[in-house]
Amino acid sequence: MKDITLPIVQTGNPVLRAKARPLTKEEILSPATQQLIEQMKATMHKAPGVGLAAPQIGQSLQIIVIEDKKEYTYSVSAKDLEIRERAPVPFHVVINPILTITTDNECEFYEGCLSVAGFVGPVNRAHSVKVECLNEKAKATTLIAKGWYARILQHEVDHLNGVLCIDKMDIKNFTTLENYQQFVLQQ
Ligand code: ZN
Repeated sequence: MKDITLPIVQTGNPVLRAKARPLTKEEILSPATQQLIEQMKATMHKAPGVGLAAPQIGQSLQIIVIEDKKEYTYSVSAKDLEIRERAPVPFHVVINPILTITTDNECEFYEGCLSVAGFVGPVNRAHSVKVECLNEKAKATTLIAKGWYARILQHEVDHLNGVLCIDKMDIKNFTTLENYQQFVLQQ
């Protein structure tokens, strides 16, 4: 099969700090955007990651792809999955999102980013959110999310605003993935 994946840009690239622009319905339905979505999906799967925003492949557009697969969590304990409220999320596309935080509850967990490859750190995020957006067919959709899925949505929508998780991190606990596995997970 032809490799349609795209390189993922890393922190320091100005495209990650720009505000991405929304798409018109015509643009969403265009062959170029449909192809870009397929490329983003393949890129996210290859990484692998649970979400990818268009700025991460160098396109300043309000497009996000998300999918959390059960197989990604085989190394995560049942207890850790439970406290994170992490469950599989089927593949879907989020375009022109408007995110609303729907609770005062926050939770802090380590998270990483494909554009800050190899590092993680604790980030405080709202426990539940609502996202109004368009899907890949340019149809209006409302996503209601809590737990880990709400975290993924907040992380990805931040990308469209030029915000990275390192901006919100408890930076003293910023760590390489290797050291996270050695020193944090072992606690
Ligand atoms: Zn990211």
